Amino acid sequence: MPEKILVVEDEPSLQETLVYNLEKQGYDVQAVGDGRLALEAARARTPDLIVLDIMLPGLDGFEVCKILRKEMTVPILMLTARDDEIDRVVGLEVGADDYLTKPFSMRELLARVKAQLRRAQIIREEMGKIKTTETEELHKVLTFGTLSIDQTRREVTQEGQVVPLKPQEYNLLVFFAEHKGQMLSREFILERVWGWDYIGDSRTVDVHVRWLRQKIEKDAASPERIVTVRGGGYRFEG
Ligand code: CA
Repeated sequence: MPEKILVVEDEPSLQETLVYNLEKQGYDVQAVGDGRLALEAARARTPDLIVLDIMLPGLDGFEVCKILRKEMTVPILMLTARDDEIDRVVGLEVGADDYLTKPFSMRELLARVKAQLRRAQIIREEMGKIKTTETEELHKVLTFGTLSIDQTRREVTQEGQVVPLKPQEYNLLVFFAEHKGQMLSREFILERVWGWDYIGDSRTVDVHVRWLRQKIEKDAASPERIVTVRGGGYRFEG
């Protein structure tokens, strides 16, 4: 069965181009041109991925993303027209999995779509494995002082309290934890955590690090766990 993609874009020529290129890759594509129809289509059809424009008539992409986030775990790739929207797009409030800034190439879009679908597949497989290992009561837990990462449950706790993390924040934290003490460049993090096989936009890493710090650092303004390496990237100190 081909993977189902919902395209939400009100500009007819771009919508047509997106549908054409995604169908050419073998995806099962449905397209709508406004936010309310996007909600209806997502609920009716449970797509494997949603490509969501921000500026839409009726309900905008931010609202659509916020609502769907509460209802389903589908990867959402947002299309932004302005750089200053990016923080909101990947921020906690909206919580898109990835974004592209217009104008973008179809090659870039297809690479992101593929990466998100692959990531969702890996998470599903991991969830499947969790069920098996849980019955065996084998928990793989990484501990750093008051911070615990239970890789079996995909659950992070700080001083015994569960820290709510989005899937990509969790993946990033585990990646840091597995490379404790190493300087990690933004490009390397992008490649390994986001699965981008080309130089992407490293601000994605910065934004996610900022959100992670707000959740796991005592003082996000002077981080002790995830430190910035000047001119380099980041290093997880534990
Ligand atoms: Ca638009």
